[in-house]
Amino acid sequence: MTMSPTLSGCNMLENTLPFLKKPIKVPPWTGDFVDAQDRLQNSKTFPIPNPSDTFDVVVIGGGISGLTAAYQLRDENVLLLERDSELGGIAKQGHYKGIPYSLGSAYLVDTQEPFGSFYNELGLTLTPVERPVNTLRTQKEWTTFAKGPFAKPFEQLRAQLKKYVQQPDFPVLPIENASSAALKLDQISFYDYLKADYPLDFIHCIDAYCRSSLGGMIHEVSAYAGINFYSEIATPIYAFPGGNAYLVQRLINLLNVAGTNRYRTGISVYNIQQNGDQVLTSYYKNSDPFSFQTVASKSVILAIPYFTALQILNGLSPEQQALMFGMQYGAYLVANCCFDREVFQGGYDNWLSSNPAFTHFIAPPSPKQNTSLEKKKAYYPSVLTVYAPFRNSNAGRATLQTTPPPNLAEKLEKELHDVIQYPNGSLQEVRLTRYGHQVLSSKTGLIQKLSKMPKTVGRIILAHSDGQGMASVESAIFEGLYGAYLSKPFLASTSLSNPLQFI
Ligand SMILES: Cc1cc2nc3c(=O)[nH]c(=O)nc-3n(C[C@H](O)[C@H](O)[C@H](O)COP(=O)(O)OP(=O)(O)OC[C@H]3O[C@@H](n4cnc5c(N)ncnc54)[C@H](O)[C@@H]3O)c2cc1C
Repeated sequence: MTMSPTLSGCNMLENTLPFLKKPIKVPPWTGDFVDAQDRLQNSKTFPIPNPSDTFDVVVIGGGISGLTAAYQLRDENVLLLERDSELGGIAKQGHYKGIPYSLGSAYLVDTQEPFGSFYNELGLTLTPVERPVNTLRTQKEWTTFAKGPFAKPFEQLRAQLKKYVQQPDFPVLPIENASSAALKLDQISFYDYLKADYPLDFIHCIDAYCRSSLGGMIHEVSAYAGINFYSEIATPIYAFPGGNAYLVQRLINLLNVAGTNRYRTGISVYNIQQNGDQVLTSYYKNSDPFSFQTVASKSVILAIPYFTALQILNGLSPEQQALMFGMQYGAYLVANCCFDREVFQGGYDNWLSSNPAFTHFIAPPSPKQNTSLEKKKAYYPSVLTVYAPFRNSNAGRATLQTTPPPNLAEKLEKELHDVIQYPNGSLQEVRLTRYGHQVLSSKTGLIQKLSKMPKTVGRIILAHSDGQGMASVESAIFEGLYGAYLSKPFLASTSLSNPLQFI
């Protein structure tokens, strides 16, 4: 089936007279906190003042993993410290004319335990994405995977994964529960796993998925991670308005209900060390880079990426250090393209196999409930979230640091126009978010090593999603739940159960 996803709603005059086009707004970057990250390079020279305050537990990092840990420990004297001015990490959101959109993390997949119970406890209603979940741009058309030129291999892979998901040897998350047969899959690439049974051009399409979701090319990423992630084609996926920031907001609300002053933002932690039966966490406020302070706690949960943890954490074992040091990260650009009308009615997640500038874009269902807008205007505004992982991470990081946003926006905008031919004048704004290091590369061999790595350094607990070797909301939630559980011996009053035993 060929779909005709580009909405006509077009004004012919706009299309034929491009000089009537209004300039497209490109606001400054959001995303990576480049200055604070650079400043950490010198953190060893910063003073460590005596503690000014004491807590039961300090959580560092306010992404989904840190917020999950803080939520679990909300009845303790807990303090969460976050570097950015806003909580959420990769799962933040923005708004355009009342429409929420994701700055990064958009949907979730796994509702098995411990995730299903966690979502229930938070009172979240999961809504499966209904429109065709995935479409693919082939030559000049958008088609669904199930009906397009790859219908046969796609159906074969979907059936294979659907069966596999229910078997005990499936490459599961958390990786601590992996069977030895599943862990063997971590020794080969996803390409090696697929190559005997699937045509090369179909495998090539999955490469875009690997670059976007697993931080590497299909021949680099682990078959364990590839199978775990790509099994989403055989299961429903779930999306909230504005993406996974919705889950973040729920966690923040529940933390607020539990008590005041549970978190502080705009705080950069630069040193963590154990001192007897206390852990000392030193930080400064971003608003005053010389406001060095230390807080003491019985335990610290470190929910920041491992490459940053390496810079600020003392006491890692040589094995932990070597493994963490070897981890690689992809660089990523996300562009939220804000239109004055709906311009695309294809799938939710729309893939390009050959486009060099971006791999896919998400077109969330338009919020039709906005009837007042309908009365005033002929159009509903819409936002497409365009995902552009860089093929070469170092070059990508350099591009993100040195290229002005309007130049990057212009390139993306042209290529988006090529594939959906939106009416001239309909694109109003391109809002760019950059991520220098945020997609962990799930390279072959990593998951097996991580599954055996101790997550504790004395009273300090590593709890970032990096610990699962795959960047996902489920990795972040699991690490947050497990991190909170691991802090239990240091906090007499908690009664948390081990999330590994749920499964
Ligand atoms: C563009 C993109 C799209 C994605 N889309 C999806 C998706 O649709 N579905 C899905 O399941 N997964 C997706 N992922 C992956 C998933 O969103 C992440 O793995 C997950 O959100 C990470 O959560 P986290 O809490 O472990 O880490 P982070 O979100 O990285 O949070 C870590 C926090 O620590 C803070 N921090 C760092 N250093 C310091 C310091 N020194 N002091 C204080 N604070 C510090 C950071 O500011 C940050 O807020 C996506 C990832 C990217 C990059």
